[in-house]
Amino acid sequence: MNIITHTLAGWCAGRQISDRPRDAVLLTVASIFPDIDGIGALVDIYRGQEAVLFSEFHHKFGHNLFACLALLPLVWYFARNFRIMFWFTILFHFHLFCDIVGARGPDGFQWPVYYFFPLNDHELTWSGQWEINAWPNFVFTLILLFVFFRQILLTGFSPLGLVSHEADSVLVDTLSNRFGHRKNQAK
Ligand SMILES: [Zn+2]
Repeated sequence: MNIITHTLAGWCAGRQISDRPRDAVLLTVASIFPDIDGIGALVDIYRGQEAVLFSEFHHKFGHNLFACLALLPLVWYFARNFRIMFWFTILFHFHLFCDIVGARGPDGFQWPVYYFFPLNDHELTWSGQWEINAWPNFVFTLILLFVFFRQILLTGFSPLGLVSHEADSVLVDTLSNRFGHRKNQAK
């Protein structure tokens, strides 16, 4: 799935799992981190070449078990909470699951997940995989957007609050006025 869907999934799950915005950030990181191995695309674009590095490394060094395990000490450092570590692991793997079921390329390539990379090159794929721009991904993203805005209304806090309390208040008030919900105390 695309990075926007992964980001929304992580943030919405994070807000559902914990009241602390910091935990939501950590769980959002869990949900998007695997795609760090797609960074070769930027180099490809910079060099004006075909997707050489992207094809070579995407779904490898980020989309694997060991990347997840390597991140857990950092999660502990920031969260000091085993429950958040557990959910970090789940959301990391939910990203892999979403890619396996719904990230087929327009050319039909399945973009297998190399779950045990660099230990071996075993490929995880699913024969029923749908395309990355197919309707299930679109519907899932719409549902996440609904949950995203609903959580803002219910909690009185949006991701803007991570950088600016004022901007967050403006957004929450605007949404509250538009949709008529009363926000709870900001968290
Ligand atoms: Zn991915």
